[in-house]
Amino acid sequence: MMGQIIFFCLFALAIVVFARNARHIYKNIKLGKAVNRSDRPGERLKLMLLVAFGQKKMFKKPLAALLHLCVYVGFCIINIEMLEIVIDGLFGTHRVFSSLGSVYNGLIYAFEWLAFAVLFSCIIFLIRRNALHIYRFGGRELKNWPKTDANLILIAEILLMTAFLFMNAADFKLQQLNHPAYHHAGAFPVSQFLLPLLPESTSTLIGIERFAWWFHIIGVLAFLNYLPISKHLHIILAFPNTYFSKLEPKGKFNNMPAVTEEVKVMLDPSLPPPTGEVSRFGVKDVQDLTWKNLLDAYTCTECGRCTAACPANITGKLLSPRKIMMDTRDRLAEVGQNMVKNGDFQDDNKSLIDTYITREEIWACTTCNACVEACPVNIDPLEIIIGLRQYAVMEESQAPASINAMFGNLENNGATWKYAQADRANWTNQ
Ligand code: SF4
Ligand code: SF4
Repeated sequence: MMGQIIFFCLFALAIVVFARNARHIYKNIKLGKAVNRSDRPGERLKLMLLVAFGQKKMFKKPLAALLHLCVYVGFCIINIEMLEIVIDGLFGTHRVFSSLGSVYNGLIYAFEWLAFAVLFSCIIFLIRRNALHIYRFGGRELKNWPKTDANLILIAEILLMTAFLFMNAADFKLQQLNHPAYHHAGAFPVSQFLLPLLPESTSTLIGIERFAWWFHIIGVLAFLNYLPISKHLHIILAFPNTYFSKLEPKGKFNNMPAVTEEVKVMLDPSLPPPTGEVSRFGVKDVQDLTWKNLLDAYTCTECGRCTAACPANITGKLLSPRKIMMDTRDRLAEVGQNMVKNGDFQDDNKSLIDTYITREEIWACTTCNACVEACPVNIDPLEIIIGLRQYAVMEESQAPASINAMFGNLENNGATWKYAQADRANWTNQ
């Protein structure tokens, strides 16, 4: 009974804390400006099924995709078994679904192989990330916590799967010893190989089985609450993020409605003057981004596929689209904490531009869209970069000298070049 009470308290606490953190993230995302992404639901659903569920874009790198698929499918399916663990924990039963007979045996058989696949893939990922010098796993933004975060989660998954297999192995051995509390149930194609490692003593075996059981459930509940502070939040957010993807061609820039209105009035003075105040042109801080940009930031897996495809980064420039997303998320978390602490946002003399993302970074972008194309969860770092540039140009008149020269030419000559309009056709006289 004491075990059931402890289990109930831990389970309830984990759910309550997770719900509170999820609400906090939802509120942060809602700080973004409105953008309509609810059109064409059928197309969106198809995109989500292909990109998030089917992991279509991951398969541009087949080996990594296959290992990732093992972790993803394995982890999701094995957690179906969590249902049994939760029921057993709450009602003090043992392998409550074993009454399903051969169906149950088949499920445990599949779970064991999947657990092995997850274990194997995580070990390979750990070696690949730490021992091999893969370009996209480097970069200044991936030092300290992001590196620890990536390793921690792989180690956690290895430990969880190991606990799962040892739990089954001890259970299987107790079944073989005909212990009355461990009736014959399940099939153990992987954990049977662990039997020689286990002791013969019944009480020690029960201790190992119970320890692995508690370790597994506490580990999963801890993992649930680790998600909101980790890049692994993508296992949940990848689905809404791909659903709300931009459906227009990737290279299409959004017009700024306030500017369009101004230009129309300049071209046609008979139109009424624009109404309403524009609070800010472009993006200075996270509140100037759309909610989809902010959802993007929380969804980023820090995989670095965008950075590895970025011509600016490859040629040694400071820009890394992955860092743009990570900086946006970090600043958003900071703004969210500021609001929780003060009730409303209090100016902290910081902003996304300059405090987090430098001018050198934003002006290094070639707007080629390679990062958007490469991202396995349809994130758009370019939209944020463009917004920051718009702010620098339209609010501060600050642009690199070469771009200022082009603006001057546009103003004076109606073209990007420095030649007067009257001289444009001179080349025909050569
Ligand atoms: S759009 Fe900019 S950030 Fe993205 S890949 Fe091209 S140069 Fe890099
Ligand atoms: S933006 Fe996309 S490609 Fe880039 S690191 Fe994040 S998830 Fe990976």
